[in-house]
Amino acid sequence: MKLGCKCPDCSTVNRISAFIAADRVELAKKKGAEFDLRCAVCGSNTKIHVDDVYAESDLTVLLAGIGSAILGVFLTIWFWNAGFIATASFAIPIVITAGVASHERTKIKLFNYGFYDSKRSRK
Ligand SMILES: [Zn+2]
Repeated sequence: MKLGCKCPDCSTVNRISAFIAADRVELAKKKGAEFDLRCAVCGSNTKIHVDDVYAESDLTVLLAGIGSAILGVFLTIWFWNAGFIATASFAIPIVITAGVASHERTKIKLFNYGFYDSKRSRK
């Protein structure tokens, strides 16, 4: 999961990587309800409200997929050498990747559905 927010001047999505929070309330505790952001593209300084920050997926799922696929290959070789024909080891990367993907989706949903200031009008 990564956090980003749109620059009001040029609409570029700036990634917020210096701080990470599970939800907007936690983010507000760390950074304040509003914080300064300097746009990476147009350079303008803007005040960003935590409710304008949103979460999206990053490379976590892809990396988990690649990592567990490699693990699956090694397990298959290991089982093969041990004298088993292991079809189960092919399922391991799929199970791991699906698990990570669903965990990421839940995290992103949690962040995007919870607002810090529910009375605040949003654009
Ligand atoms: Zn900008």
